[in-house]
Amino acid sequence: MTRTFFVGGNWKMNGSVAAVSTLVDGLNTASLKQGVEVVIAPPALYIPAVQSSLKAGHVAAQNIYSESKGAFTGEISAEMLKDVGVQWVILGHSERRHVFGETDELIAKKAKHALGVGLKVIFCIGETLQEREANKTTEVVFHQLSAVAQVVSDWSNIVIAYEPVWAIGTGKVATPVQAQEVHHDIRVWLKDHVSPQAAENTRIVYGGSVNAGNCQEIGRQADVDGFLVGGASLKPEFADIINAAQ
Ligand code: PGA
Repeated sequence: MTRTFFVGGNWKMNGSVAAVSTLVDGLNTASLKQGVEVVIAPPALYIPAVQSSLKAGHVAAQNIYSESKGAFTGEISAEMLKDVGVQWVILGHSERRHVFGETDELIAKKAKHALGVGLKVIFCIGETLQEREANKTTEVVFHQLSAVAQVVSDWSNIVIAYEPVWAIGTGKVATPVQAQEVHHDIRVWLKDHVSPQAAENTRIVYGGSVNAGNCQEIGRQADVDGFLVGGASLKPEFADIINAAQ
């Protein structure tokens, strides 16, 4: 099976009514390659506005809590996203892990819950610079993957985003070789720990300082099936990144 190229735009905590409208208009009028799966993750408050106006793709939330409802002030649930027609959620983003202290176990619980409700999950993993320098990259990403594999057996609604922490928002992008190495290791891990079908079919996308200048070469790597884009998803060059689809 050929894997459909996937490009996610993670707007993080950025935007305003006016900025959202400008960004969506830009995407709607850009000339975009057909056959690329585009998913935009605005701040939760702006999800309905993006959903009702975006023609070129689907919408994701940037997070959920692991429960359906109740006394969890400030949180939103997978059920609520489904209720308003959202199909995707980003889980395990490094900012959730490092700024908000989310553990592998909590992220796995959220993933299981989201998938159970029928959402698709963009599941982010990646090592810190210190971990990479200590040659622990695969150990770290395999541990992050294992936490989810312990509670989820069907990976058909998961896109894995490999996002080295040292590359996120730093302008220090992984080299195509570095990205390919880890993506390949992740695919082998899927084969050994989930199934050969999951290894073949699961999209593994790269994130971390992707821009119009570096996306072509990274996107050409055999095991790179797209991108998760932060900063550049707030700029017109996001269209060029979508069009870098192989
Ligand atoms: P960046 O962020 O493209 O700004 O590095 C990527 C991400 O956090 O998903």
